[in-house]
Amino acid sequence: MKIRARWLFLTACLLPAIMLFSGQSSGQGRTAAVVSRQPLKVYISVDMEGIWGVVHGNQCSAESPEYQIARKWMAQDTNAVIQGLFDGGATEVVVNDSHGSMRNIIAGELDPRAILISGSPKPMSMMEGLDSSFSACLFVGYHARAGSAPAILDHTISGAAIYSIRINGLEMPELGINAAIAGYFNVPVVMITGDTETCRQAQELLGQSLLAVPVKEAVNRLAARNFARDKVLTDLREGARKALSSLKSCQPYKLSPPYQFEINLHNSQQAELGALIPGVRRPYPRTLTFASQDYLEGFKLMRALIALAGVS
Ligand SMILES: [Zn+2]
Repeated sequence: MKIRARWLFLTACLLPAIMLFSGQSSGQGRTAAVVSRQPLKVYISVDMEGIWGVVHGNQCSAESPEYQIARKWMAQDTNAVIQGLFDGGATEVVVNDSHGSMRNIIAGELDPRAILISGSPKPMSMMEGLDSSFSACLFVGYHARAGSAPAILDHTISGAAIYSIRINGLEMPELGINAAIAGYFNVPVVMITGDTETCRQAQELLGQSLLAVPVKEAVNRLAARNFARDKVLTDLREGARKALSSLKSCQPYKLSPPYQFEINLHNSQQAELGALIPGVRRPYPRTLTFASQDYLEGFKLMRALIALAGVS
């Protein structure tokens, strides 16, 4: 007890005096606390077809032995972006695994500073977890819309069900559908990564000033020229850092209500069950349409219609 009492005296009386004398006063500590950084939350949606090295569906499917290495590339691409975001001032990074089962990124392989949303189904799917508290949104490993060429594994949400999706008359890639969800929450998309055609489509839709980092160039749907790995990882890191530095000039992507959804399916049977829902029209055998005043509600109905088409 005696030793403890002496120690308490030392810490209570002498330590502050020593700190004051050496310049490490509690006043400086308060100053540091006052100038601490503003919160800067950043959201990343990560798909798989646009990850460096991926050129075939087998690499994106858990049933294939080729999948194990591709999911590591997915974590590496994402980690390079996360590093750039923290270098650029992010205080919190949330990563949403957005491909297939949405359990592709091995949790232990992700940069431990980031939060990982893993698994499926999720109400907002590829955009789960986003809300208006975020300052920026990035799309990593994205792919071109169905019917693009040359583009690696081009499709829109479901290769088996969807021929095309139009919203307010615009034929949409997933990046456009999801950018409008970000816009719903007033969050701008500040960077996209994928093949060169995906980057072109993103800039066409979201603006030429969007920062795009191509990681490969398609030769055809199942072959690509993957760019040098070292350069790609550097470009991803530097791109993410720069994207945050130009945040003020980025605008959220917004469409105008009422939102007119048009879903064109591959065959007429895929439209049968969806057409039973009140408010959903079937102007052509393979086409379902509906309107929504609320974009997020419309998005959710669209997802349900795709599920009713009999494929995920
Ligand atoms: Zn995917």
